[in-house]
Amino acid sequence: MPSVKLKKGRDKSVNRKHPWIFSGAIDSVKNISNNGETVEIISSDGKLLGCGSYSSHSQISVRVLSFNPTDIIDKDFFQQRIENAVEFRKQIINAESTNAYRVINAESDYIPGLIVDKYSDFLVCQFLSAGSEYWKKDIVEILSNYFKPTGIFERSDVEVREKEGLKQSKGILYGKNSDTIIEIIENGNKFLVDINLGHKTGFYLDQRDNRKLLEEYSSEKEILNCFSFTGGFSVYALKSGANKVVNVDSSAEALLLAEKNFSLNGIDSSKYENVQDDVFKYLRKLRDTNKQFDVIILDPPKFAESVSQIEKAGRGYKDINLLALKLLKKNGVLFTFSCSGHIVPDLFNKIIADAATDAGKEVHILKYLTQSPDHTMLTSFPEGLYLKGLVCKVN
Ligand code: SAH
Repeated sequence: MPSVKLKKGRDKSVNRKHPWIFSGAIDSVKNISNNGETVEIISSDGKLLGCGSYSSHSQISVRVLSFNPTDIIDKDFFQQRIENAVEFRKQIINAESTNAYRVINAESDYIPGLIVDKYSDFLVCQFLSAGSEYWKKDIVEILSNYFKPTGIFERSDVEVREKEGLKQSKGILYGKNSDTIIEIIENGNKFLVDINLGHKTGFYLDQRDNRKLLEEYSSEKEILNCFSFTGGFSVYALKSGANKVVNVDSSAEALLLAEKNFSLNGIDSSKYENVQDDVFKYLRKLRDTNKQFDVIILDPPKFAESVSQIEKAGRGYKDINLLALKLLKKNGVLFTFSCSGHIVPDLFNKIIADAATDAGKEVHILKYLTQSPDHTMLTSFPEGLYLKGLVCKVN
């Protein structure tokens, strides 16, 4: 059996059940011939600690599959892991009003590197690590037998694959490839999801609960939805009685799909305005008019891709939040988010506090938000928490 032996003292993170073993922790490797194959993890004093997938290219050399030394890693193992994850989703997703959710959330569902999102009767997968790629055929078979989906589509067209020595990859893995625009229902709202060209796997499922929360703040309000993508937050707001929503996004394709989503939900075109612009610039344009809003949503893309980008990202978050706070009416509400894992919650809170100070506003925090629970998080894997949000009220 292929194996890796850890350096002395480097079994601590494994003992705490953290799923990553970095190359610097490894003393020696034995009998490894394929990228992604399963290895036994041995402590410096020869104890078997568990097993994981070996990546010969990545800094993360091993992603732990099991901390139980007696587990055998085979197709049945993945079947069990997938079934456990699906059973949990049955507890938290109301299938009558929602048919799109994350089925497998990689490390946080004990299947490192594997993302599976369900969009109605389609599944969309990302194989982000050498290990998940190694087991791809079996995983696709398990998913097709279990879900009997119309199709399974792959969206492994992401740069992180290259760190694992894998090429980017995209296309149908199982079933029909007829239409890649899928209609889903989320909390009773309908959305079109472009699983072929949309961001990530097509839709930001992680914001489901936060979109739902916006309903409480929407009635008769005038709302500015920045980084609106395909109109997720806006559909919820308008269906719960918002007077008007302005959607701002730099992507013409996203705004076009937003328009279709509004009409799919029976929303009159007088209720919204779509603006294709850079949010940083557009907020400044608004600042120079006297326009004010009741509610503003800031849900930008990831500003910090790595530790080295934290400072610059922090300036970006502060900039848009400062501008947005100034554009709010008295008692106005800000929904503000960061999906950069490297910006930890305390830092995000501090950025918002600094923005408030510089905007000359007193800001109450009404709620702390995070990713919806199908985007599972483990106490032993803090890296799995990436989405942070605050609902704030200005005086
Ligand atoms: N809130 C959305 C998801 C937002 S994703 C939802 O619930 O579905 C981030 C969006 O920001 C993307 O649609 C992207 O096109 C857009 N974007 C990225 N940089 C931008 C910029 N500088 N100005 C405007 N939009 C931007």
